[in-house]
Amino acid sequence: MKRVLVFEAHGDDMEFFAGGTIAKFCALGHEVTLVVATDNDKGSFELSAAALRAVRDKEVNGAADVLGIKRVIPLGYSDGDLAYQATPDHLRGQFTRIIREVNPDIVVTWDPFAPYEGHADHRAVAVAASEAASFSHFPLYYPEQLTGGLQPHYVGEQWFFAKSPRDQNKFVDIDGYIDKKIEALYKHEAQMVLTIADMQHHLRASGLDVPWLAALDPHDYHEAIARRMKQGAHAVAQRAGLACEYAEGFRRTRYGGIESFAKDQQIPEDV
Ligand SMILES: [Zn+2]
Repeated sequence: MKRVLVFEAHGDDMEFFAGGTIAKFCALGHEVTLVVATDNDKGSFELSAAALRAVRDKEVNGAADVLGIKRVIPLGYSDGDLAYQATPDHLRGQFTRIIREVNPDIVVTWDPFAPYEGHADHRAVAVAASEAASFSHFPLYYPEQLTGGLQPHYVGEQWFFAKSPRDQNKFVDIDGYIDKKIEALYKHEAQMVLTIADMQHHLRASGLDVPWLAALDPHDYHEAIARRMKQGAHAVAQRAGLACEYAEGFRRTRYGGIESFAKDQQIPEDV
């Protein structure tokens, strides 16, 4: 059994990029903990911030239950303001403490080196989480945390959400888990409505003609989301040359690249 710790900015980030993989980790008996940095209180064109905060925990926990995640840790920063509410040092320290509490073998998060990432929350989580995962075993980082049984902890693998195919070097067959990924996304109802409404903003402004999207009630998001997820996962599988129908791709680093010293040996795959 491995421990997997996911750091995400918003309640649905992980589901979009890694929902099938996380469902597979859970089904194989690995223990997954999810840290959600913000409260998603700006993610709607129709609800107030207070109304969004009121449904947020229910949606996040509902999706976690679908995937089989054991524990959710909400940090409650305001959506969109994470990088301005928490200094990089504070956020890295907070993430380091969580790593030292959860003792993960694998950290999954946003990629600090992904090009063209437009969302400041994603960038803030990416930098803090990858630095925390890289340095949590060094006792002189945040030494004040090392009381009451908390120990330095080494994280062997970092898996980064990969928007660009160029960055993907690890692929996971999610044929048995694509439905769980989609079902988990459906639990994020406010965010799914927003996703469709935002696509419609882009469409109207572009002047392009996509009648089914223009006419879609954003609350009827189910089919459009399922189609988009299946198309995306199928394209990943095809690009990777896999025999499966659906896959997710990550940029992964393992054990600081130490495998180059042991060329004839393989590190076993967990999923
Ligand atoms: Zn996000």
